Amino acid sequence: MQVRSETRRNHGSSCGQNTCEALRKSKERADFLVYHDVLTGLPNRAFLLEHLPSMLAGADRHNEKVALLFLNLDHFKNINDSLGHASGDVVLKKVAERLKKCSRKQDVLIRLGADEFVTALGGIRDGAEAAVAAERIRKVVAEEFRVEGYSLSTTCSIGISLFPEHGTDPESLLKEADLALCCAKENGRSCWRFFTPDLNAKALERMTLENGLRHAIASEQFFIEYQPQVNLATGRIVGSEALLRWRHPELGLVPPNTFIPVAEKCGEIVRIGEWVLREACAQARQWQEQGVAGLPVAVNVSAVQFRQQSFPDTVKNVLRDTGLDAGMLELELTESLLLADADVVPSVMQRLREMGVNLAIDDFGSGYCGLNYLRQFQFCKLKIDRVFVQALGQSSYDDAITAAIIGVARILKMKVIAECAETEGQVHFLREHGCDEVQGYYFSKPLSADNFAERVLSQCN
Ligand code: C2E
Ligand code: MG
Ligand code: MG
Repeated sequence: MQVRSETRRNHGSSCGQNTCEALRKSKERADFLVYHDVLTGLPNRAFLLEHLPSMLAGADRHNEKVALLFLNLDHFKNINDSLGHASGDVVLKKVAERLKKCSRKQDVLIRLGADEFVTALGGIRDGAEAAVAAERIRKVVAEEFRVEGYSLSTTCSIGISLFPEHGTDPESLLKEADLALCCAKENGRSCWRFFTPDLNAKALERMTLENGLRHAIASEQFFIEYQPQVNLATGRIVGSEALLRWRHPELGLVPPNTFIPVAEKCGEIVRIGEWVLREACAQARQWQEQGVAGLPVAVNVSAVQFRQQSFPDTVKNVLRDTGLDAGMLELELTESLLLADADVVPSVMQRLREMGVNLAIDDFGSGYCGLNYLRQFQFCKLKIDRVFVQALGQSSYDDAITAAIIGVARILKMKVIAECAETEGQVHFLREHGCDEVQGYYFSKPLSADNFAERVLSQCN
């Protein structure tokens, strides 16, 4: 479907032929820009919103359906980051060409922005036809590209909404296709998903959490518990991990695994993470004054926080304000964090190490971390992921992996700690294989700050 741009006739006799021609051209160009995307030449969102109502009305009259396919390229940022924005633009143009070839004259194809495209399929009978079209698009986009001598490939995820069953107005259909797209992304990408009403419920839940998170610090709904870390040789508490808790006024205690990903997506994690850091450092300092000395506190750091160039300054300010020694702070980073931003991560880690802060790698073995990362980033501590620890004694495979991880940590002169140890058998295995420390319900659940201090002081007597 093409945009009609009105050309104005030249009635003015005083206007010179050339000037009028230039004016007409610039008017045409302006009209074009209102409804088109400059990079790909495809129509844009404004065009879709203007034409969709008549498309829907036509479908209604003929007892047909319309499907909105909301397409997003998977990991497009990687192409921009590795090959530069000019190559990224070439890929977007090529994707637009391929999508154009898939579209029929009764369809509307637009570029919504960045790496997002929408196709409205007109005159279809059922969802199955939309699924066939989505699968064709998915395959066509996945074919190899040649860009500046490189061959590269990208995949796409697609969310689908249907008129009239999912919505009857353009905005709702777009929103629902977008929700279905999120679902496709969460399901491993390079796939398509239809909108379902429960996606609306999930989005509502996410919105409730997001709104709640914005006020949680000011309303004092957060608090921290501290889980003891125990030396396996001596049985004594040698440190703690700060674990964030959120008491929501209506939902009650919301688990961190539920709200941290939401806070990461909406960016609130940066503020929340700083609050945790400040609280935990202030608490560690206060314990020292109570006679609980020499025990470092570990704080979990999200990849989103870590990607901020200013993160080392935040840590520095918190240490200065609370008066805690850098050596008494340990930051727990995850494997995915190391892989997330290859440009920023090494320099941030370097600055933190120079300040004397200890770095630990959390949930080790659950991600995609190569062993060379351990060497390159010089962690002082490695935390074995719970999946291995909890399977100890039940699977010779997990026994072997745990023993091997302990071995690697020792060779690299890193301290090794096992998390989530719950049974005598697990603790026995870990001690026998030379694991330094353990954390888990076997020794203690996470405790309030006061109870933690009491536990530590009681072991001194
Ligand atoms: P994590 O850092 O791996 O923390 C260990 C989790 O295991 C904690 O769950 C802890 O309560 C739980 N746990 C400890 N011992 C046992 C055990 O013996 N058995 C079992 N079944 N579980 C045990 P929690 O507190 O629910 O935290 C979950 C995750 O949320 C943490 O995993 C961490 O990734 C994240 N998290 C918690 N606090 C923060 C925070 O302040 N900032 C960030 N970015 N993430 C946090
Ligand atoms: Mg942790
Ligand atoms: Mg962990």
